[in-house]
Amino acid sequence: MISESLLIGKIRRFLPAAQGIRKGIGDDAAVLPLDKKHYLLLTVDTIVDGVDFRLTETSPELVGRKALAINLSDIAAMGGEPCHALVALGIPAGLSYAWIRRFYSGMRKLGKEFNTVVVGGDLSRSKQFFASVTVAGKVKKDKLVLRDGAKTGDSILVTGRLGGSLAGRHLTFTPRVREAAYLVKHFKINAMMDLSDGLMRDLDVLMRESKKGARVFMDSIPVSQTALRGSGQGKTNPLKSALCDGEDFELLFTASRADAKNILAGRDGLLGTPVRCIGKATAGQGIMFQKNEKDREKFKLPWKGYEHF
Ligand SMILES: [Mg+2]
Repeated sequence: MISESLLIGKIRRFLPAAQGIRKGIGDDAAVLPLDKKHYLLLTVDTIVDGVDFRLTETSPELVGRKALAINLSDIAAMGGEPCHALVALGIPAGLSYAWIRRFYSGMRKLGKEFNTVVVGGDLSRSKQFFASVTVAGKVKKDKLVLRDGAKTGDSILVTGRLGGSLAGRHLTFTPRVREAAYLVKHFKINAMMDLSDGLMRDLDVLMRESKKGARVFMDSIPVSQTALRGSGQGKTNPLKSALCDGEDFELLFTASRADAKNILAGRDGLLGTPVRCIGKATAGQGIMFQKNEKDREKFKLPWKGYEHF
């Protein structure tokens, strides 16, 4: 099986280059012209029964919530605000109207919280249930944040705590729309993405897009309680969990040292959400690990994170 990033690269080269747009394939959302002051953001994400959740084990409200939330997270990663959604469902025979109604109820509730209204969609028959949601948002032109803007010497920051999301948080996470809006309003954020495939893998993507390398301070990785508890049961290494588990949906971003210092100075984190500096961007390429900022001895990790295929 070909890896997702390789496949995206191939499709990207095959399709004609879009004209008149700010950013096409290869970021959290496409960036299109809207008006004098704003860009239009477009993103689509699909969840499939048996791959992203289990229909038989998950409440329909949470499935609907997740289908929207993962898209809101992508709009946030661009520094934008979501506004409208299109919802395409593949519905297996035998799925009740009551289930579908509860699905939309979960979606509607989250949409209300983040000013996002469903304005259309499509229904089709399918062997397995799936939901494909497209979200449109907008961003002020001077607040747009892409993945490719990290500068040498930038601090690398992350919101929230990482790891163990598959124990439940992948269904209940809060998309960091407010935190992203606050960040781009008050600071110069040079590069940003949301964490969907695990910190190690996503950081690699962010730094490659920016043509930079990174030093990661292992002592600073914010490990979630779930990841710590998992290790208490002897199942996993919590640090490995924080670095490699997917679906954290936190923000990974870079800013100058000075801006980072001010971001970290907030007593309340970022609007109540924890924020940490986990490393810095370097010239060149590759991700190096070291114990903390001062101890520059590099070391290897005893596991592989992002080589899924
Ligand atoms: Mg994303």
